[in-house]
Amino acid sequence: MVENGVKKSGFEEVGLLSLSSADHSEIAEVAKGLADRYDGTNVSLSLPSTRVDAFNIDLANELSRNGRRSGLTFAPEGGSERLRKVINKMVSEDDLIRTVAAAYSSGWRQVKLYFMCGLPTETDEDVLAIADLAKRVIATGREVSGRRDIRCTVSIGGFVPKPHTPFQWASQLDHETTDARLKQLRDAVRQDKQYGRAIGFRYHDGKPGIIEGLLSRGDRRVGAIIEEVWRDGGRFDGWSEHFSFDRWVAAADRVLAGAPVDLDWYTTRERGYDEVLPWDHLDSGLDRNWLWEDWQDALHEVEVDDCRWTPCFDCGVCPEMGTDIQVGPTGKQFLPLSVV
Ligand code: SF4
Repeated sequence: MVENGVKKSGFEEVGLLSLSSADHSEIAEVAKGLADRYDGTNVSLSLPSTRVDAFNIDLANELSRNGRRSGLTFAPEGGSERLRKVINKMVSEDDLIRTVAAAYSSGWRQVKLYFMCGLPTETDEDVLAIADLAKRVIATGREVSGRRDIRCTVSIGGFVPKPHTPFQWASQLDHETTDARLKQLRDAVRQDKQYGRAIGFRYHDGKPGIIEGLLSRGDRRVGAIIEEVWRDGGRFDGWSEHFSFDRWVAAADRVLAGAPVDLDWYTTRERGYDEVLPWDHLDSGLDRNWLWEDWQDALHEVEVDDCRWTPCFDCGVCPEMGTDIQVGPTGKQFLPLSVV
């Protein structure tokens, strides 16, 4: 497919795009094969989405054989090890540090780290742990590369619970607390004399996340709120210069006046097991009870293994969707993290 695409389109950039390309059990073979084939040509290869636990630097090095090693992105998502257990990101701080050390020592100058703010059970300390992690990343990078000009960019998105996931019952963090936590984090990074200047910080304020939350877990009544916002002149709300939180709040107030629910009810409220959720009649293949248990495991910081390498946990997807897990001929495991 790549060969055909490159030949027929004339483009010279190939990206292996999917939700999680690095989860393909033969991704190392695929990457190496492509890198060999396009070695010495003008075709550049990339693999944009990079989970720390499913990605190894070898892979990034292979893909960048022809190009510049500018920036490498990892998504630990949770700032503290405790929080990463909640979201089942089985990557320890030492794993991450080993990974970035390998990246900086193979010539990468910039590492981007992606986190979320507002994950279930999160505290101020979990978010402040991001600053400590970023400082450790810079310290390690300077040590292994022997250079001072390396950088780490911390990028933070607000967490929005989604239907058909274990967090569909979770309360979303209110925007005031989100903003307060991110301000604390920004101050902690900026005030650091030794490393602060080497750390970039990107984040958004919490208000758009609340509207995303309303749309994410809304029911039929939310349709009327969207219409009301539109009638009131709302357009292109995905663009921050056009987004008006106040317009959404006012529209929700008008539409929901007299209804027993409000904006908070849709967003910052935790749901219980017995509540009928607006999407319960839609089948995503996942068993509801399995999701609930997974949600309880998350709250108790219990990690669940990757079912590619363990017996099935009966989540329901394979029988419901008529699929099954396929592991390629090399059978090489990416978990736990292996960095060369
Ligand atoms: S093997 Fe299939 S059904 Fe079993 S836990 Fe994994 S995805 Fe779910």
